[in-house]
Amino acid sequence: MSLEQLDNGTVEELTNKPENNYVSILVLRELESNAVFTTNGQDADLGTIGLEDDEYNPVLMFMRKQSGSDRRFAKSMQREMLEDVECTMDVNEMCQECPECVMYGSAASSSDRNISITSRVMYDTAYSLRDAKKVVEEKFQNAPGDNYSQETSGEEAMTGIREPDFVQPGTMFPSVITLKDATPEEVAFFLSTTMKNKRYGATSSRQGRTKNHILGIYTGDEEGPSNLAVTKKTIELLGEEAVEQDTLDSETVQETVKQAFDQLVEEDRLDCEEVDSLEDVLDEVRENIEDYLESQEEKSREFVESVES
Ligand SMILES: [Zn+2]
Repeated sequence: MSLEQLDNGTVEELTNKPENNYVSILVLRELESNAVFTTNGQDADLGTIGLEDDEYNPVLMFMRKQSGSDRRFAKSMQREMLEDVECTMDVNEMCQECPECVMYGSAASSSDRNISITSRVMYDTAYSLRDAKKVVEEKFQNAPGDNYSQETSGEEAMTGIREPDFVQPGTMFPSVITLKDATPEEVAFFLSTTMKNKRYGATSSRQGRTKNHILGIYTGDEEGPSNLAVTKKTIELLGEEAVEQDTLDSETVQETVKQAFDQLVEEDRLDCEEVDSLEDVLDEVRENIEDYLESQEEKSREFVESVES
């Protein structure tokens, strides 16, 4: 069974005593439609990253934009596959015993349970590989004329109602997600969610279409490189002019992100060993996710009971 490849970074039984078992999953998120990543409802969230020669302003995909979307997707998936699970996204109403609650964590709720479960899925803010001026578009309703563009209109021309900034299709975000002390079934649950979830940063059903390219799975006794480090290294390998380009080739970027991660593991001498056959693991997950979820349902419930007693 291909999930054996995960042994080095997983646990057989869930335990309340933290150990250092890590599975790092390297993903490249590529937008396939406009998406909205804003905190104030209008401006795209931006950061500044210093590079070797220069600096640039990436769009930020905050942790919550990723985890919130994945959690919603994971909950619907288990509702479909497991018969007796009723759980919600309402923080005060979570069941605290389903595979999703136990893996992603949940705060002490108003239910009869008086426990809070720590999340064992660690996300990190992700950074676009290109500069905001190349990937962000300001949108106006009733913008004057069809040929409206940023350059030709000053304050006065902006009579329309400003909509949230759109991040354009083709924008790519390297993202490492780490699972700590997870069972192989939980890793399968996460991988299945990542393969199937296609919406991030959506405010309507036509937005936020995203392709998650899974580039590698790594196991070991410590966390892998951070998103920031992987992003900087990728740009270094692509050449700094990449941040200013109008487009980037997806295949090339996928290979380069993988190369960047592997180089960082080596340079920092991290204990992150890549699984031999990524495709075998993903196929195994595609074929057996329902069985894995059923088996995990029992493990999660037993774990919660053992903590409560
Ligand atoms: Zn639940």
